[in-house]
Parts: sequence; C-alpha cells; structure tokens
Amino acid sequence: MSGLFGEKTTRARSVVAEFLTRPAALACLPAVSLAVYWMGGDSALITVAAIMPLIYLLTFGPGGINTDQATALQHGLTDTALFDTLVAERFKEAREGALSSAIFKIEIDEGTEFPDRLGHAATETIVARVGERIFAALREGDLVAKTGDYKFTACLKPVRQLDLELCIQLAGRLQAALEEPISIDGTSVYLTSSVGFCQHSHVINQSSMAWLDAARTALREAQAHGPNAIRAYSNEMKRRSETRAELRQEVANALEAGHIRPWFQPQISTDTGLVTGFEALARWEHPDRGMISPADFLPAIEQSDMLERLAEVMMYHAFAALRAWDEAGVSVPQIGVNFAGPELKNPRLIDKVRWELDRFDLTPERLAVEVLETVVARAPDDIITRNINGLGQLGCRIDLDDFGTGHASIASIRRFSVSRIKIDRSFVMKADRDPDQQRMISAILTMAERLGVETLAEGVETVGEHALLAQLGCDHVQGFGIAKPMPFEETQDWIIRHNAKLQDMPRILGNRTG
Ligand code: C2E
Ligand code: CA
Ligand code: CA
Repeated sequence: MSGLFGEKTTRARSVVAEFLTRPAALACLPAVSLAVYWMGGDSALITVAAIMPLIYLLTFGPGGINTDQATALQHGLTDTALFDTLVAERFKEAREGALSSAIFKIEIDEGTEFPDRLGHAATETIVARVGERIFAALREGDLVAKTGDYKFTACLKPVRQLDLELCIQLAGRLQAALEEPISIDGTSVYLTSSVGFCQHSHVINQSSMAWLDAARTALREAQAHGPNAIRAYSNEMKRRSETRAELRQEVANALEAGHIRPWFQPQISTDTGLVTGFEALARWEHPDRGMISPADFLPAIEQSDMLERLAEVMMYHAFAALRAWDEAGVSVPQIGVNFAGPELKNPRLIDKVRWELDRFDLTPERLAVEVLETVVARAPDDIITRNINGLGQLGCRIDLDDFGTGHASIASIRRFSVSRIKIDRSFVMKADRDPDQQRMISAILTMAERLGVETLAEGVETVGEHALLAQLGCDHVQGFGIAKPMPFEETQDWIIRHNAKLQDMPRILGNRTG
C-alpha cells in the first residue's frame, strides 16, 4: 500500500517537475505573478510568492525529484522510477484495446570505454545528447527513460498498426539519429548503437516485466552481433539465450573439473628445423560431446568472468609440461600462453606469473606471453600497459599475436618491448603462389628486422609456404604443415620423431648430391 502511495507521489512530483522545468514555465513566472497581482491585489501576490518556493521544495527537495531526474525530464525523458509502472499501463492498454506497441532498448556501443577515452564530463554530455536525440526521433506519447549508464528504453504509445517492418524502420531511424557526430569542445565524437526490440504481441508470458525482459534479450543478441546491429525478439532467441546460460554454467564446471586443458602446437626454426617452442591452446574434452574448440567456449568463459581462471589453468599445465620436457631431456626452449584483454587487466597478473614460474622453478624467458595485436593497438588503459611492460621487465617474452590484423603502430611495438611478431595466417595462406601475399610478408619481415624483433608465421599448412617463408627470412613457423595441436602425452614422441627426421635430412640430401 505504502509502495503504491509512494509511487503516486513520485508520479505527481514528476508531472509537476516536468512542467516546472520547461523553459516556458520559467519564462512565464514573472507574467503569472503580475496577473495574480492585477486580479487579486497584494494578498494574492504574497500568497503566490510564499507558495511557489514551497512547490519547488516539495518537488525537488528531499525525497523528491533529484537533479538527474530533473535534467532527464527537461529533455523529455520519463522518470526511470516510474517507467516500469507506465510500461505496465501501456501493456494493459494495448492488450485490452487490441492495439500494438513495442519496447526498444538502445545502448551506445563500447560506452564503457568513453570515460577512459574522453573523460567523465564529455561522457555525460554525450549520454545526455543521445537521450535527447532518441526522444526527438520518437512521436509524442512515446515514453523514453534512461535505464543504464549508456542505455535507454523506449515504449511506444499503443497504436492500431505497428508491424515488424515499421519497428525495424524505427530502430534504423534511432541508430541514424545517434550516428550524427556529437560536438564536444570543438571535436566531433562518432558513435554507434545496438538496438533490440520486442513487439508487445510477441510476449508469451503475459506480463509487462516479461515484455521488458524480452527486449533486453533482443538487445543482448544485437550486441553479440554488433556493433551497430538491430535485433527483433523471437522465441527462438529466448531458447538460444537459455542454452547460452546453460553453456556458461557447464563451462565453469568443466574448468573446475579439469576438463579444459591445453593442447600443444610446435613452433620450429626455419634455419635449423629444431623445435623452438610450443603454443598452449585451450581444449575442452567434453565427456559426451568430444573435443570442443576455443571458438565455441571462450565467449561463455568470458561472459562468466572466468578468463582469469582459464589463464591460471593454462599456465599451470604449460609450466608442468615444460618441467616434464626438461626432465625427459627433450629441448623445448619456451611455451606460448594466450592472454586475453580482460586477463591483462588483472592487477595481480605479474605477481601471479612470477609465483607460478617459481613454483615450477622456471626462468621467466621460458614463457612467451601471447597478446593480440588488437589489444596493443587500442591504446589500452594504464593497467594493460603496466602489465605487459611488467611481464617484459620480469624477463618474459612478448609475442604479438595475429599481427597484421590489428593496426598496432610501430611506436606500440617498441613501447611494449615486443620480442616477436606472429604474422597472421591470412598473410601466409597461399603465399607461395600469390605475389601480393609475398610482398606483404616481405614488408612485415623488413619492418621486424629494422625494429630488431623476431618473426613467426602462423598457419603454415604446406611445404611450399614453409619453404617460401624460410627463403624470405622469417625466423619461425607454426601450423598444420608442421603439426596440429596435440595433447601433452603425444608431444614427446612427436619431438623424437621430428628430431630423427632432421638427422636423416642431410644424409638424404647427401645421398642425392653424392
Ligand atoms: P590463436 O592464438 O591465433 O591460435 C592459433 C589458432 O590457429 C589455433 O586455433 C590453432 O589450432 C589454429 N591453427 C594452427 N595452425 C593452423 C593451420 O595451419 N591452419 C589453420 N587453419 N589453423 C591453424 P584454436 O586452437 O582453435 O584457437 C583459436 C583461438 O582461440 C586462438 O587463436 C586464441 O586466440 C584463442 N585461444 C586458444 N586458447 C586460448 C587460451 O588458453 N586463452 C585465451 N585467452 N585464448 C585462447
Ligand atoms: Ca596465439
Ligand atoms: Ca594467432
């Protein structure tokens, strides 16, 4: 009961606040006072003068509308505290009047990066502009509220005709309105947004909460395909989102149960043919479904915030493998472990790596930290820079992964004391037959040589590609052409067979020439 009463009060307050914050209301205040004086004389004027501050106090004072809400109202937005109630009313109105409506959820893409990039004040201005533009793009009677730091929700006024086509058009119009540059201190900021919407007729569970939830699911789906995507809610989407939630739970369990562990892919020197290292690649050995590759489970790990745990598990097994190879007397100078962006934000990363190396009694140069070029290129925040540099200073090697796909500057290659660049597979494919590919590889190799960093070509599948890379002067190669990733148990045999082949090689050549 008290909730309902509170809601009614808030509602009355926001109606008054909306009126009071309109520029017209403020401009008319002197005129109103004059009119009152003219009609009612001194006493009427005194009454008005006493009542006006009281109305402002009740509206904006303690427990009333705060300045954020007031600003929102000024821009035509609905008070967030009231939004759900109003949506419930719209839902009922649409159902009882056999009318159509839809909820749109709009979120600025990569909004969370704005404060770092542009500062808090500029971010606030941008978000306010976005709110205004959404409001302006809608019709009178539609509701818009700010429902997250970078998110807005709109509920359309129920109408007779609103089909999927119209909803898609409207979503496109909203995106277009936000794509116009926003001017901040003389510079233009460009942004994109993701939009998810749900038509009221598509809600199976007949409640406004389910309606809002469905729009949220559609937004999440749009963001998964974003940036700049639009998605309409469907029942299929709900099933998919449930499956994803199950997968997240399952992957977390698998990680704890030890079903996710590294497989190892060798890297060899183009000069000597010897093994110069292995890369540890995560594999989920599922008891029923067999081998699952990282592309299928890494997103679930990231969504469950378990990347840190994965890195821990990968590092543990990678170091255990190094120790085992050492003890067996097979030479594997180093191991590459992949570190994703979020893991590189871990403030305890350097300590953890140092601690794990100590535990296995390994020197830091045995670990090659694989960092994606895109992570380094995106002018990362302080903590990522500190972590990569810290690991470099500790003595670990830094491998720049997927090089050629991420536009890292030469300055960042120097700044992060990169030891080696891993030339992306897209440059290596068919390189022995495609002169354009050869030119790109040559350019990368020349740059690397000048910068004094080593090179490794990824995804080497054929003898032809291998030979060309050796001829162009690439230092190391890795790919199916040398070996596919394999479980630890197979690595020693593989190394022994590989070394035996190397020893045979000169003899074969010798026989031929002799
Ligand atoms: P990546 O780091 O670029 O790893 C190389 C990928 O290329 C691996 O795929 C490998 O199996 C595949 N590959 C190697 N040689 C060839 C080849 O000759 N031809 C073709 N077509 N592919 C080749 P995989 O194991 O499926 O891993 C995919 C990506 O998942 C990795 O790309 C890496 O970004 C990520 N990943 C794998 N393990 C981990 C991990 O432990 N942590 C994190 N954060 N990411 C991981
Ligand atoms: Ca890698
Ligand atoms: Ca790679």
